[in-house]
Amino acid sequence: MKLSAPPEPRSIAAACATVDLDIEGMHCAACVTRIEKFLKRVDGVSDASVNLATNRARVSYDPGRAAPAALIGAVERAGYQAQPRHDSPAGAAAAPPARDLIGAALLGTPVLVVGMLWQPRPVAAEWLLCAASAVVILYFGRSFIAGAWQALKSGGGATMDTLIALGSLAAWLYSFAELVAARRPQTYFETGSTIVTLILMGRYLEGRARSRAGDAVRALANLAPKTALVVRGDGEAVETDVGRIQVGDVIRIRPGEKAPVDGVVVSGSSALDESLLTGESVPVVKEQGAIVVGGSLNTTGSLDVRATAVGAHAVLATIVRLVENAQASKPPVQRLADRISAIFVPIVLAVSASTFVIWLALRAPAGIALQDAVAVLVIACPCALGLATPTAIIVGVGRAASLGMLVRDAQALESAGRVSMVIFDKTGTLTEGRFEVTDIVPASGMDPRRLLAIAAAAEQGSEHPIAKGILARAVDEGLSAPAPARFRSVTGGGVCAEVDGVEVLAGSADFLEQRGMAAPATESSAETLVHVAEAGRYAGSIALKDRIRDSSAGAIDALSRLGIASALVSGDVEAVASDVAARVGIGTVMAQVKPDGKVEAVHQLRREAAGPVAMVGDGVNDAAALAAADVGIAMGAAADAASEAAGITLLRADLAGVARAVVLSRRVVAVIRQNLFWAFAFNAIGIPLAAAGRLSPMIAAFAMAFSSVAVVSNSLRLKNA
Ligand code: ADP
Ligand code: MG
Repeated sequence: MKLSAPPEPRSIAAACATVDLDIEGMHCAACVTRIEKFLKRVDGVSDASVNLATNRARVSYDPGRAAPAALIGAVERAGYQAQPRHDSPAGAAAAPPARDLIGAALLGTPVLVVGMLWQPRPVAAEWLLCAASAVVILYFGRSFIAGAWQALKSGGGATMDTLIALGSLAAWLYSFAELVAARRPQTYFETGSTIVTLILMGRYLEGRARSRAGDAVRALANLAPKTALVVRGDGEAVETDVGRIQVGDVIRIRPGEKAPVDGVVVSGSSALDESLLTGESVPVVKEQGAIVVGGSLNTTGSLDVRATAVGAHAVLATIVRLVENAQASKPPVQRLADRISAIFVPIVLAVSASTFVIWLALRAPAGIALQDAVAVLVIACPCALGLATPTAIIVGVGRAASLGMLVRDAQALESAGRVSMVIFDKTGTLTEGRFEVTDIVPASGMDPRRLLAIAAAAEQGSEHPIAKGILARAVDEGLSAPAPARFRSVTGGGVCAEVDGVEVLAGSADFLEQRGMAAPATESSAETLVHVAEAGRYAGSIALKDRIRDSSAGAIDALSRLGIASALVSGDVEAVASDVAARVGIGTVMAQVKPDGKVEAVHQLRREAAGPVAMVGDGVNDAAALAAADVGIAMGAAADAASEAAGITLLRADLAGVARAVVLSRRVVAVIRQNLFWAFAFNAIGIPLAAAGRLSPMIAAFAMAFSSVAVVSNSLRLKNA
């Protein structure tokens, strides 16, 4: 009897690592599920997701129990090659080499022509066809045979390679047997070689198209130059490899060059074109202190920039990573397609065998029965099914990135088109978030300059745009605000601090009232009022106005033309919120919503809209509301691109991106639907036709190759969506 050690207790949150593997040799959805199955069987692997369009597997595993080498071994046992992911951007596989295709076509075409047209033919010609088609099948088609063999060796199972290899070999072997044994042989040598040639052609075209699907992310990754001029201590600039730049180095960017890393301008002034990063086509003027994002193009002047983030930490690298992750993610619908194709291959083998047997039983000649069985094998491969969704997602996510929209995953892209209402935050979203003081109304006996001074002092610690507006006005008036003590800020309310030994409050009417002070009822104003109290007594109010973004009204209009309602949720008072809403064309307004009430507001509006809702806000203040919505859309600069809560991040401060995201999403979903429909229909019509003897194996091979190419090409249309 063998004793086995008791299983070690493991913490619930087992250590988890993720690795990306580059996979070679995948051709269809059946390959995807097969590799996933083999990977998941490895001890310690918790999840494995394979993407046909990127040729990549992402595996989550417990590093204590599994190692990357074991994962690679599992992929190899499944019949494919794997290696740890290259650092190069994926997005799609490189286009496949055309050598085998050219060879197969050169030899296969004469075989096809002779086989079809020269009848009856002498035995010598038969032997020539026999030899030529053998070369095509066994040599140029060796990848199918090797793949099928691998799959068989590694514990049975069949892949698309099995179907092609079996089909072409069966036709050839039958013909060979006829040639050897029959007096008047009826051969089908052209069948096998034509199948191999056509499928090779299909794979080649599909591979080329697939590699184009990754163009957008490759363009992004190639934005950063490979070398840069680093300014040394003595002021001389030296050409340096970008990989060797360190944080703190000063880099000189001449006109026409691209920023190699992220940084802050230390001297010089120039306009930078960030269009490839944000989609914004107007160059932005940058002077000392301005943030420069790696990858942006310097147009006119020379700039010296101090590096603040390099390598994987730079914004561009982060964006590329996010786009790649999104491209590799699968929407739920694809998981279904993958599951179907997993059981597909065995079923097809059974259908094919039955076809052969039934036709024989119906007294059809063996050669004809075999042709029909081969046609079933060839037509049934679920290639197109596996490519239907991932190619559309890759192209769609890439297109979004080139429009300045970062999509977190396939799901976000898919659901954006379904929303029935878009909820907007006010400050910083519909408005620019740059407040200007328009009026200072002191309480009787209060000096207006003093009112501004104490308010500015109290606001010094606040990050709120209102605080910045008040401080800016104080600076304009030449006031020097004393430093506050004991500063406290209440989000969505106001601030409270000790100025020159007295307590000063500045905030909304509610904020003051909750602290026992009455604020005047001036609700009807369309300006935001900040009420100030000093030592427990109301001291006056400061009115501020925020500019509405130029893009706001147009964005709301575009949404309503798409049949989507808009709503405004704001912490500001009713009068201001309604004024902004009226001016941009929003009907539904919820005012005086505290920050933690915004989540509840999202839920309430979703019930009213009776459909999914999107929330548009800034990724920092509105994170909870963004996460609560079906689609969170963050308005951000490229610098804080990776907003966790947002499904979509608009890199450009332009609300038109919201409608654009909806339109793109709808197009992507439409393309996925078309792809899945055709892929299913193709098999649903093709298999019965083939089994009924209505489809020659060569036509089947052509249709099969065509269906994959058609699906990928359809997805590529999204490049211009
Ligand atoms: P929004 O939802 O429009 O982005 P907030 O939730 O940030 O607005 O703020 C709501 C209200 O709280 C503001 O309109 C203002 O009256 C008050 N408030 C918030 N922060 C401050 C501050 N630092 N100073 C003065 N008032 C503030
Ligand atoms: Mg806000």
